[in-house]
Amino acid sequence: MADPQAGPMERFAQTGEAIRGTPSKLEKTRLLGEYFAGLDLPSLPLAAIFFTARPFADRDQRKLNLGYAVIRNAVCAVAGVDDDALGEAYLRHSDVGDVIEEVLAGHTHPRPTGLRDVEAVFARIYAERTVRKKTEALIELLDRLTPLEAKYIGKILTGDLRIGLRAGLVEEGIARAAGAPAQDVAWASMLTGDLGEVALLARRGALRQAQLHLMHPLQFMLASPEEDAEAIMRRVGGEAWVEDKYDGIRGQLHKEGSRVILYSRDLNEVTSAFPEVVEAGQRVPHDVLLDGELLAFKDGSVRPFFELQHRLGRKVVSAQLLGEVPVSFVAFDLLYLDGQTLLQEPLRERRRLLEGLELPPPFMLAHLIRARSAQELDEVFNAARARNNEGLMVKGPNTPYTPGRRGLGWLKLKKALATLDVVVTGVEWGHGKRRQVLSDYTFAVYDEGSGRLVNIGKAYSGLTDAEIASMTEYFKSITLKDYGRFRLVQPEVVLEVAFDAIMESGRHNSGYALRFPRIKRIRSDKTAREIDTLDSVARLHRSFTRERVQLVEPAQPSADGEPVPSGS
Ligand code: AMP
Repeated sequence: MADPQAGPMERFAQTGEAIRGTPSKLEKTRLLGEYFAGLDLPSLPLAAIFFTARPFADRDQRKLNLGYAVIRNAVCAVAGVDDDALGEAYLRHSDVGDVIEEVLAGHTHPRPTGLRDVEAVFARIYAERTVRKKTEALIELLDRLTPLEAKYIGKILTGDLRIGLRAGLVEEGIARAAGAPAQDVAWASMLTGDLGEVALLARRGALRQAQLHLMHPLQFMLASPEEDAEAIMRRVGGEAWVEDKYDGIRGQLHKEGSRVILYSRDLNEVTSAFPEVVEAGQRVPHDVLLDGELLAFKDGSVRPFFELQHRLGRKVVSAQLLGEVPVSFVAFDLLYLDGQTLLQEPLRERRRLLEGLELPPPFMLAHLIRARSAQELDEVFNAARARNNEGLMVKGPNTPYTPGRRGLGWLKLKKALATLDVVVTGVEWGHGKRRQVLSDYTFAVYDEGSGRLVNIGKAYSGLTDAEIASMTEYFKSITLKDYGRFRLVQPEVVLEVAFDAIMESGRHNSGYALRFPRIKRIRSDKTAREIDTLDSVARLHRSFTRERVQLVEPAQPSADGEPVPSGS
């Protein structure tokens, strides 16, 4: 139970411990509600944000991207231990926060610290330009905290509290503290992308006044993998809208007055990299928020993804590059039009309004086919496969737009069987000419039931030599424990892996294995919070086995002879 006399950071940590100590979601929510209700106005938004394991609100453009090495170095400096001692502690706990608490015991100089003090240091870490300065700022913070408080700083900085609390529960806690309906909190959270602001609105009883503000990124609606035509038809309610799945990067275009801003899928601004889209956007005679895909598009056809990569990260795009890799914005959704928030309108209406905008080139609209039965849907799938399409998106015409959610309104169907987004948990030195590089990756999906990562496969990198070399350095920097051949790494590198089948298997602790897994690409636009779940894997496995012969791998000794990351 949190000590009401404790300083704000200490109460935050104590509340975290109490939440961790109970498996009951109801009890977790109650604890959060009680905690939020007792906070003063300045601390309330910060507490809400920190409980989502983020230093800043979602919609805040600031991202710390601190990297495990900085945390490790700061902890070692304060504790006066070396990397090896930290690695040993990690083996005992499998949790960065617990490690920090253990090794810092007796080594810090605690003084009362408020959440605003913590936020000020996060802001300073963000503002500092060098790794050394950032590390120094973190050292100062850790030194003034109790080991328990420091543990929670570690958890926030690694983006995962690991106390069995997903963002949804934080929303419920806010609702409970204010005696407001949970759905009002969820709605305000969607519109604002800022749980801190939501907590304040809830306290004022003003949740329904939450507004979608343009020029702030809105979380993107996500898709769930699904392969089975019958299941899809049931989900979308009898009519399926099938769009091509374009292989570019997700883009969200905000236009207000003469200003245009483009955000990419990770909610970072990419306006300057796409001047032709911005110019065309300025000519749209409305205020709009468009969701779509940025594509390299030349002479009437879509160019491969790697060409688009030349355009990414540019502050200034030369006339030559504009000519060589022209970009198009394929719009597939309209979320705001001239003061009206359209999120709750059915897709059918949003698409009608989108078509009515008559967007100028290089805007295009996603190609749309309507299917009214599982059989029609299968025909569309087959035709897409025959065209060698990267995949299809299936949408329910009556569904609203749900930011940040893998709503059931959008389903993705990909070539081969499907692909999964997974996180790398371990890496291994390669063989032959790859023996100098970490080229073999073990990866995991997220088990929502236990709140842990579970391994599902291992793949040899399908990346270029240059990419493997740079990933090798990166994996070294996020190594949690070095076992010689195998390294346990901080789970943060997200991969998209393709495979031919999913089998039940005792080889990995997920209970499944992938047949012929291959890495399609590194999803640097995704964080470990967005990987696929064990549930999706089970669903894909079921739909796969329904259609084809059941594949169960023969029992065999564990291939992960190596230690597996926490939760495994
Ligand atoms: P994934 O990133 O594999 O989870 O698949 C979802 C992504 O597909 C979205 O984030 C978009 O970037 C992309 N995409 C391509 N075409 C479409 C489309 N027609 N509708 C929605 N998303 C699309």
